[in-house]
Amino acid sequence: MNGLNSDPLTLLAAAMLVYFVGGLAWLLLALVARVAPRISLGLALANGLLTAALATHSLRGQASAWLAFWGSDVLAMATLATLRAVMPALSEESASGKATIAWRSALILLLPAAAAIAWLPYEGDLRWHTRIIFGVTLVLTLLAAGDAWRQLRARLAPHLAAQLTAPLFVIALFLLLPLINSFIRPSATFDLLAANKFQVGWLWSMLALGLLINATMALLVLARVILQIQRLTRRDPLTDVLNRRALSEAIDDEHARLQRGKPYALVMIDMDHFKQLNDSMGHAAGDAALLQAVQVLSVCVRDVDRLGRLGGEEFCVLLPLTDLAGAALVAERMRHNLEASSFAWQGKTWPLTASFGVAEAQAEDVSADAVLQRADKGMYRAKAQGRNLVQEA
Ligand code: GH3
Ligand code: MG
Ligand code: MG
Repeated sequence: MNGLNSDPLTLLAAAMLVYFVGGLAWLLLALVARVAPRISLGLALANGLLTAALATHSLRGQASAWLAFWGSDVLAMATLATLRAVMPALSEESASGKATIAWRSALILLLPAAAAIAWLPYEGDLRWHTRIIFGVTLVLTLLAAGDAWRQLRARLAPHLAAQLTAPLFVIALFLLLPLINSFIRPSATFDLLAANKFQVGWLWSMLALGLLINATMALLVLARVILQIQRLTRRDPLTDVLNRRALSEAIDDEHARLQRGKPYALVMIDMDHFKQLNDSMGHAAGDAALLQAVQVLSVCVRDVDRLGRLGGEEFCVLLPLTDLAGAALVAERMRHNLEASSFAWQGKTWPLTASFGVAEAQAEDVSADAVLQRADKGMYRAKAQGRNLVQEA
C-alpha cells in the first residue's frame, strides 16, 4: 500500500470525520425527526465516543499521557459499551413505544476495565492494557451481536438475521486479532499511528465495518419504527386486541384458504346490558370492564386464534381449522369464564356476561361476510333467548 492508504494519520482523520458525521446524523434523527429518540441518541453517543477516542489516540506523544492513552482507551471501550446498551431496546415492544437502554449491563464491564488500566502503569510493556481493552471490547461486541441475533432471529428468516448481525461478529473477530497478538508478540504495542501493514489494514477494516454497523443500525431502527406503526394501525388502543380492520383481513385470508379445504369458524360476542353498566358505574368503569372481558376471553383461545374488537362492546374470534361444534365449545368456555368473573369497581360489583353467536364457514359462502352474518344472527338469537347464551343461526 502507498500514498493515502498507508498514511495512518490521514486515515485516522478520515475515520474521525466519518464517525463525527454519523454521530450528527443520529443526533438529528433523535432531536429533530424524533425517530426512536433514545436509541438514536445512544447511537449518536457511540459515534461521538469513537470520534473522541480516535482524536485523543492521535494525540499520543503530544498531549498528556492520561488523555492520549488512558482517555482514548476508555473512550474506545465506552463506544462498544454504548452499542451493547442500546441493542436490547431495538426489539422492545412496550405499549408506550419508549425504549429502555440497558446501561447497567454495559457499565458493569466498562468501569472495572477503566479502573484496571488506570491502575496499571502506562509505560514499557503494555500487553496487559491490550488484553484488558480488547478483551472487554470483544465481550461487549459479542454480547451486542448475540442480542441482535436473538432479536432478529425471532422475527426474520435465519439468513436475513445472519446478514444483519454479521458486521458485529466480524468486528468481534477484528478485536480478537490484537488480543491474540498480545500473547504471540507480547512486546508489540497496539498503536493506530504505527505505519505498519497490520495497523493500516486494521484501521481500514474498522472504518469499513463501523460504516456498515451504522448502516445496519439505521436499518434496524427503521424496522422498529415500521413495526411500531404497523402495530398502531392494527390494534385497538383500549384493549390492544386486533381492531376491526386487522381482524377483517385475517378472516378474509382464512376464507381464501377455505377453497383448499381448510375450515374455519367465527364467534361473535356482544356484552350484555352494557349500557346499564355504563349508566350506573360510569364510562371509565365500562372501559375497565371491557379490559377485564378481553383478559378473560383471550385465555380461552389458542395461539392461532384471533380475537378482535369490532367496535363498542362487540368482539369476534376467528378460529382456524375449527368446525361448528368446536367453536360452540370455545364459546361456551368463554361464556362460562366471563360469567364466573364478576367485575369489581370502587367497592361495587357487577355481573359480566355476554351473548355468543357461532358459525362455521361453508363451501357455498361467497365471502367471509356471509359467515359473519350467520354468527351475528346466532348472537341475536342468544340475546332474544335471554342473553348469557351461545347460539347458532
Ligand atoms: P344488550 O344486552 O342488548 O347488548 O344491551 P347493551 O346495553 O349492551 O346494548 P348495546 O350492545 O346496543 O349497547 C352498547 C353499549 O355499550 C353502548 C355504550 O354505552 C356501550 N359502549 C360501547 N363502546 C363502549 C366503550 O368503548 N366504552 C364504554 N365504557 N362503553 C361502551
Ligand atoms: Mg352492542
Ligand atoms: Mg351489548
